Amino acid sequence: MRVNQAQRDPFSLKKGLDKIKSAGLFRTRRAVNSAQGATINIGGEQLVNFCSNDYLGLARDERLVQAVRSGAAVYGVGSGASQLICGRSLAHEQLEEAVATRLGRSRAVIFSSGYLANLAIISTFAASRNDVVVMDKANHASLIDGALLARASLRRYAHNDIAGLERLCAGGRTLVATDSVFSMDGDLAALPDIVAVCEKHNALLAVDDAHGFGVLGRNGGGAMEYFSLDETRVPILMATFGKACGVMGAFVAGPDDVIETIIQSGRPYIYTTAMPAALAVAAEKALTIVARETWRREKLYALIDRFVQGAKQLALPVLASTTPVQGFIAGSAGAAVKCSDYAMTRGILVNAIRSPTVPKNTERLRITLTAGHSDEQVDRLLEVLAELAVQLKRQA
Ligand SMILES: *Cc1c(COP(=O)(O)O)cnc(C)c1O
Repeated sequence: MRVNQAQRDPFSLKKGLDKIKSAGLFRTRRAVNSAQGATINIGGEQLVNFCSNDYLGLARDERLVQAVRSGAAVYGVGSGASQLICGRSLAHEQLEEAVATRLGRSRAVIFSSGYLANLAIISTFAASRNDVVVMDKANHASLIDGALLARASLRRYAHNDIAGLERLCAGGRTLVATDSVFSMDGDLAALPDIVAVCEKHNALLAVDDAHGFGVLGRNGGGAMEYFSLDETRVPILMATFGKACGVMGAFVAGPDDVIETIIQSGRPYIYTTAMPAALAVAAEKALTIVARETWRREKLYALIDRFVQGAKQLALPVLASTTPVQGFIAGSAGAAVKCSDYAMTRGILVNAIRSPTVPKNTERLRITLTAGHSDEQVDRLLEVLAELAVQLKRQA
């Protein structure tokens, strides 16, 4: 007898998807029909964009577009292979050197994405069953996934609980990993305290500066510049080119032995096709722009200040944050989605972030400000959030 292929569902996928839907956790996708920027086009509609990580407004910068063009003219499009085979170009090499020089670190290595960089860091330095990985509970998913890939055991402490961190650092080879700016809450890790605990317990420290690099520090050097930490204090530093730099890809920078160990044994480094050289050319250009154009950070921080002051005056339910990442708490998955849908009807694009990305009952709108926004756009955002706060109160 012929089985009706359309009806075969040996893994009960339909049931699983229905469950996601009925929990209000179904994720929908959109297709953007324009370059990234303070406003973007979706379905023919122009929306003010408060959810990209393009913090300095560089993703559509004409100089970066030109850098990609000139890189492609020399190197073509595809990189052809992984970096250790024949995919690493002179552009990658120059980018590594530029990162190391710019951050005052011995060496750097380039990754196609931050997700892969974090997988490589955790699985390389916590590769034995006796190793322990210690993390903040609010760390980015890629660090947690790195621990799943590593053989080591994962221990997590409550968000920003330094005493909790210290309790978990007792004995054995320990790798501590933390976001510098927490990606969903926008608050800062207490890096000087974390460094002190690691030094006291001889733990190795990795910092993910995805949201700090380009944003924190006068010259955009990120959390290391902001807290005045060098590679003797924070040996493993990771950051991405896909956020403030407006390109794509990532790096890990630090002492020679750290970088060489990743190159020699980091499977997510070794077994993936190299980032296209044209993007390496653009990322190097972005490094220069990020360092030189301090006005972008000044403008960004003026907008953050405007938002934080406005939210305070309106008594909005926002998380305490001094970075471009701001959380407007809706309190449930359903409420967060409703808030996002309503904002869209008012011409504002801001995403609902639900569990498991954030803890249950802290579902929220994750708002991101960029140097590309105007005062008027931030004011309009505040106006819409004030309307939402009233609606949330009425439903409570
Ligand atoms: C975005 C992000 C990453 C992943 O970087 P990609 O380049 O997007 O893969 C890692 N860590 C944090 C904290 C991030 O926000």
